[in-house]
Amino acid sequence: MRGGFHLNRARLANGVQGLALPGLPCVAHGCSKCCYETEMPLTEADIARIEALGHRRDDFCALDDESVPQLRNDEGHCVFLGPTGACGIYDHRPAGCRLYPLVWDRDSGDVTLDDFCPFHDEFPVAPDKRAELVRVLRTIEAEARDRKAQA
Ligand code: SF4
Repeated sequence: MRGGFHLNRARLANGVQGLALPGLPCVAHGCSKCCYETEMPLTEADIARIEALGHRRDDFCALDDESVPQLRNDEGHCVFLGPTGACGIYDHRPAGCRLYPLVWDRDSGDVTLDDFCPFHDEFPVAPDKRAELVRVLRTIEAEARDRKAQA
């Protein structure tokens, strides 16, 4: 599964902030796998934060079939992934990128660590991050409903 949110499974990339060992597995292994062919969903707050950096909305995100904005890919990876494998907006990256490899698995109806990440079992997960993932997903879903209602 590629980095990002799926309707039956939510992947929320580069799980760094808030996990007990911030960034260490990604940094230690030099891994940016989850930033390739990303399907990362964005909240309106994510979009506003990135726009404030001077990026145009249409340049970095597009709506999927469910009216959920997702990060765009360029040459197979997130538009913000730099040539060295570092995120170009790291301090302002989307909530989902901060929480990954935490995901919501709709098949099991539970929060889990995504085994798409080769180092997922190296991420200790604080309980409040599980709640945050659910909150972010609810926001994304509510915003998509509003978008559809206004269409
Ligand atoms: S915003 Fe940054 S962390 Fe998120 S997918 Fe793009 S390059 Fe990776």
